[in-house]
Amino acid sequence: MRTMAIIGNPNSGKTTLFNRLTGSNQHVGNWPGVTVERKSGQVQHLGKQTHVVDLPGIYSLSPYTQEEKIARTFMLSDTTDGILNIVDATNLERNLYLTMQLISLGLPMVIALNFVDEAQSQHIQIDCKQLSMLLGVEVFPISARHGTGLPPLLDALTGNAKTLHPPTHQPTYPHKVHTIIGEGVLLLSKMAVRPCSRPFYAAKLLENDPVVDSELALTEAQKQQFTALREALCTHTGESDPEMLLASVTYDYIETIVSSCVKRPQQQKPSLTERIDRIVLHRWLALPIFLATLSLMFWATFGSIGAFLKNCLESFLRSIVIPHMGTFLLAAGASDWTIDLVCDGILGGVGGVLSFLPQIVLLFFFLSMLEDTGYLARVAFLMDTLLRRIGLSGKSCVPMLMGFGCTTPAVMAARTMENDRDRHMTILLTPFMSCGAKLPVYILIAGAVFGTQAFPVIISLYLLGILMAAFSGFLFKKTVFRDVSSGFVLELPPYRLPTFEGTIRSMRDRATDFITRAGTLIFLMSVLIWFLQNITPTLSAADTPESSILGLFGRLLAPAFSPLGFGVWQLSVALLAGLVAKEAVVSTLLILYEVSGGTALGGILSGVLSPAAAYAFLVFILLYMPCISAFSTIKRELGGWFWALSAVTFQTLLAWITSFVLYHIGMLLF
Ligand code: GDP
Ligand code: MG
Repeated sequence: MRTMAIIGNPNSGKTTLFNRLTGSNQHVGNWPGVTVERKSGQVQHLGKQTHVVDLPGIYSLSPYTQEEKIARTFMLSDTTDGILNIVDATNLERNLYLTMQLISLGLPMVIALNFVDEAQSQHIQIDCKQLSMLLGVEVFPISARHGTGLPPLLDALTGNAKTLHPPTHQPTYPHKVHTIIGEGVLLLSKMAVRPCSRPFYAAKLLENDPVVDSELALTEAQKQQFTALREALCTHTGESDPEMLLASVTYDYIETIVSSCVKRPQQQKPSLTERIDRIVLHRWLALPIFLATLSLMFWATFGSIGAFLKNCLESFLRSIVIPHMGTFLLAAGASDWTIDLVCDGILGGVGGVLSFLPQIVLLFFFLSMLEDTGYLARVAFLMDTLLRRIGLSGKSCVPMLMGFGCTTPAVMAARTMENDRDRHMTILLTPFMSCGAKLPVYILIAGAVFGTQAFPVIISLYLLGILMAAFSGFLFKKTVFRDVSSGFVLELPPYRLPTFEGTIRSMRDRATDFITRAGTLIFLMSVLIWFLQNITPTLSAADTPESSILGLFGRLLAPAFSPLGFGVWQLSVALLAGLVAKEAVVSTLLILYEVSGGTALGGILSGVLSPAAAYAFLVFILLYMPCISAFSTIKRELGGWFWALSAVTFQTLLAWITSFVLYHIGMLLF
C-alpha cells in the first residue's frame, strides 16, 4: 500500500485534515507545536486504501528542532511514497517556501490548499489552476475544518485519479544558480540517494547544510568539488552566504508565482484578529486580561459550577451507591470482610476519586477553549519577557501551560524547542505547574481545613508552583545551564472559534483517561492499601490500623515529615501512594481513615491538621516528585537516569524545604 506523508507548516491544519481523511481522533490545537510525534492511519475511498502519516509541522527541511528532525527523517526515508503538502491559503508566501523544498525531493506530490474558507472571508482570490500549472503539482482547494473539497483530493491520494505525480518541473532560478545546482546534481549521480531527490541534496550541500553533509558521507574529493561550486556561486552572484542566496532566490521565485495567481483586496482593513490583539496584547490591559481569564477559569472549576457538580456526585455515591451495595452484598450472604473491602476499600477509594471527575472535565473544557481560540499562544507571547529573566523563552510557555493539565504530554510538548538547553530546562520546570491530578487533593484538604478560604488557598498553590519554577529556572541559569536562551519564534495564529468536536474530544479524552486511571491504578492501589492496613507483619488480622503493615511503615516514614507539621502515618502513606498517581493520595486517605466521601474525611482531617500543617502538606503535594508516568517521560526526554533522578531529587528536596519554611512561618503568624 502507498504511504503518503502529510506535511506542512505548523498550524496549517494537518491534524484536522488527517482526522477528516482517516476518521480518527487526534488532538487538534490552534497553536504551533501540537503534533510532536507522528501518527498514522488509513484512508479508504471508493474501495481503495492509502496509508497516511501526520507529521509535526515544519517551516523547512533544515532540521533544528526535535519535531523538524522527526518530520525530515520520515520524508527522506524510503517508506514515503508521496507527499501531501498542506498549504495555508491565507499565508501563501511563507507556506510555499517549504513547498519548494518538497518539490526538489521529486516525489509524487499533491497540494491541499487549506483554509479556503478563511481566504474567502478575507477576500483573497487564488487561481488554483494557474498555481498548479506554475508549481507543476496538482492543487486542491479545501477546508479541512468544514470538510469541503475533499473528494478530488481523496481520488488523488488513493489513486482513483491520475493526479498524483512527481512535480513536472523544478523551480526556476537565475541562470547561473540553476547551472550550478545542475552541476551539483551531476556530482551526486553515484551517491546512494533517491535519484529524483538529487536537486534537494545538491541545494543542501551548496548551502553547506551540516546534517546532509554528515548523512551523505562525501569523500574528500567530492567535498572539494562542492566547495568549488559554492565559491563559484558566491563570485557569480556577489553574495557571501550561499544559504542566504538560495533562500532569497527561492523567495523571488515564490513572489513571481504568487503575484500571478493571488488577488488580494486593495484596501485591507484590520482583520478581526488584529483588532482583538490590539486589546488583548495592549501594553496595560494584557496582564489584567490574562489574570481575569485565569481567575474566571479557576473560579468556575473550583468554586461555583465545579463544586456544585462534585457535591451532587459525591452525595449520590455516599447516600445511594455505597449503602445499596452494602445491603445487596449482605443479602447475597457476603462475609463482613468482603463488604468492607468493596464498600470501604474499592467504592470508598475509587468512588472518592471519581467524584472529582466534573471538576477535571471542566478544567479541561476551559483549557481547550483557551488553546483552540488561539489565546494560549498570546499568553506565551506575553510571558516572553518574563521568561527571559529566568533564562527561558516564551516558547517554554506552551509546555508549561500544558503542565496545568498533565505533566506527561507537557513534557513531550517541549520537543518543539530549538535548542536542547531550553528544552531540558523546560522539562525540569514543567512538573512545578500544578497538574490536574493534584486538584482533588487541593479541593479535599483546602476545603476541609480552610472552608470558605479554600479558593484563595488553591490559587496561591498554583502561583507558588509558578514562583518555584521561576526560582528554579533562575538557579539553573546561574549553575547548570549557563548558555543564553535561543530566540523566540512562536508565531501567533489567528483567533478561531473552537470547534465543537475538538472541545468535546479534549474533554472526553481527559475524562476517559481519568476514569481509566481510577479503574486501574487507583483501583489496584485501593485494594492493596486496604489489605496492607488490615494485616499485621506476621500476616494475621490487624486489630487497629496502627498495628498493620501500613501503620508500621507509615510510622517509620512519618518522622521525616514531623518538622513540616504533618508527621502522621496516614498522610505519609498517602504521599507514597501519590507517587503512583496523585489522585491516589485522596483514595488512600479515604481508606486509611475508613470513611466514605470527601466531606466525612474533611471532618477528620481538619482535626488532624492545623492550618499551617495543612498548607505545608499541600505545598509538599504541589512540589514533590511527579507520578511514575511523568517520571518515565521525563527520563526518556532528558535521555537517562542520571538527569531524571537528579531532577526528582531536586524537586523533593525543594518540596521539603519550602514546606518546612512555610509551616514555620504559618505557625508564627496564625
Ligand atoms: P496542525 O498544527 O497543522 O496539525 O493544525 P491543526 O489541525 O491542529 O489546526 C490548527 C487550527 O486551524 C485549528 O484550530 C483548526 O480548527 C483550524 N483549521 C484547520 N483547518 C481549517 C480550515 O480549513 N478552516 C478554518 N477556518 N480553520 C481550520
Ligand atoms: Mg497537528
